[in-house]
Amino acid sequence: MAGIMSGTKKIFLGPIVSSSSFKDLSFAGYLATENGKITKLGSREEYNSLQQSGAFTDHKTITLKPGQLLIPGFVDCHTHAPQFPNLGIGLDRPLLEWLDKYTFPLESQYKDVEFAAKVYDKVVQRLLTNGTTTACYFGSLHLEGTIELAKTVLKHKQRALVGKVSMNLKNDAGYYNETAAELDQVEKFVQTILSYKNDLVQPVITPRFAVSCDEPLMTGLAMIAQKYDCRIQSHISENLKEIEYVLEMYPSCTSYGEVYDKSQILSNKCILAHAIHLTEAEMSLLAARGVSLAHCPASNTRLRSGLCPVRKYRQRGLRVGLGTDVSGGDSASILDAVRRSMDVSTHLDLQAGGDNAISWKEAFYLATMGGAEALNLDHKIGNFQVGKELDALLVDVYAAGNIDRHEYSADNTEEERVTNLLQKFVYLADDRNILQVYVKGELVKDISN
Ligand SMILES: [Zn+2]
Repeated sequence: MAGIMSGTKKIFLGPIVSSSSFKDLSFAGYLATENGKITKLGSREEYNSLQQSGAFTDHKTITLKPGQLLIPGFVDCHTHAPQFPNLGIGLDRPLLEWLDKYTFPLESQYKDVEFAAKVYDKVVQRLLTNGTTTACYFGSLHLEGTIELAKTVLKHKQRALVGKVSMNLKNDAGYYNETAAELDQVEKFVQTILSYKNDLVQPVITPRFAVSCDEPLMTGLAMIAQKYDCRIQSHISENLKEIEYVLEMYPSCTSYGEVYDKSQILSNKCILAHAIHLTEAEMSLLAARGVSLAHCPASNTRLRSGLCPVRKYRQRGLRVGLGTDVSGGDSASILDAVRRSMDVSTHLDLQAGGDNAISWKEAFYLATMGGAEALNLDHKIGNFQVGKELDALLVDVYAAGNIDRHEYSADNTEEERVTNLLQKFVYLADDRNILQVYVKGELVKDISN
C-alpha cells in the first residue's frame, strides 16, 4: 500500500511564501502535505533533521529549481463564466447599456446546454492556467446550463462557488424568469450541487442586482440561502446611473444597501461586487452585517464606473478580495487584477490625496488571503498554515524568458532574495510563469515540461 500512500503525501522543497498579514509575508523552506492538507511547514534546517530521522521516506519530493517559488493559489471572488466569449469586445458603453446591448443577448444563448458545456470547459481551464484555484462564478439564468458549469469545475478539480443567476424583471432580451419558477429552479440548483457531496464546489445564491430582481424574489432567495446555509452574491453601487435607478425603484429606501438589507440579502455569507460608491451609512451597514466585497478594478475602469477605495473599506472592517469580473473586466487573470488594484488605488491618491495606495504585498494579500476571507474560506485556504488545504502555484520567474534576471549582491539575505523574486512575479509575470497548479494537494494543471 506504500505506493498508494506516496501519491497523497508530498514534500515541496524550496522557497515557500504566503501572506502572514495584510502587510507581511511569511517564509518556509519546505512544506509537507497529506491527503490535501498541510501537515508540516518549516525551515530547511528543520527539514534536514526530520529527513535524517526518516520522517519523509514515504513522501514524494518536489524540489524547486532556482527562480521558482511555491505561493498560494489565486482566488477570483467575482467572474461571469458565460461572458467569456465577449472578452475584449463591447466595452464602449456604461454598465446598463452594456448589459442590454452585449451581455444579456450572449447570456441568453446558454439555454443551449451543449454550447454551455463547450464554453465552460474552456473557461475553467483558462482560469486554472492563470492560477485561479478558487473562483466565485456567476452562471447564467439557466438551470441546466449552470449545472454544466458546476460539473465542469468538478471535472477539472477547481475549487468554486457556482451561482445560477436570478432575474425576474423584464428586459429587451427577454432574459428573465417568473418569480415562482425562478425560486423553484434555484432550490433545485442548490439541491443538485449539494448532492455531489464534493466540498470543492458549493452553490451560491445569485440575485443579479436590484435592477433585475424585485423584492419578493430577493427575499425568497434569501430564504433559500438561509435554509441551505449557502453563500449569496450580487452586485452593488457599481455605477451612478444604476444607483439612481435603484433608488427610483425603491423610494422607501435611502440607499442601495438598504434595498438589499430589507430583502435580507446582507449577512456574513454575502459577497457584493464593485461597491464603488458606498455612502458612509452604507459602509457601516455592510460592515455591521459582515458583508464581503469583491473589488473588480479592470471592469470598474473599462466601464468607466469609478475608483474603488479599498483601503478605506478594509479600515471600516469590510473583508475585500479581488474579482476579474469578466467580461466587464478585460482579463481573466487575477495577476492582472493585482496590478490594476495597485494602479487604481494610486490614481485615487493622485486625484484626491490621502492614504489609498496599495502596495504589491497588500495586493498579493487581496489576491490570496483577502479572497479566501471574502468567500469565508480562510479556514481552509489563502495562505500556508498547518491544517489548511494546499491550493498552491509552483511558479518560475525566469523559465519563460519573459522576465529579466536580477543579479543579487552577495549580502542579500534569503528572505530578501525570495521577496524580490515574488515582487518580480507580482509586477511582471503571466500564465507562462505558472508551471504547476495544485488544488487540495492535487496537481490539476502542469506545464512544467
Ligand atoms: Zn459582475
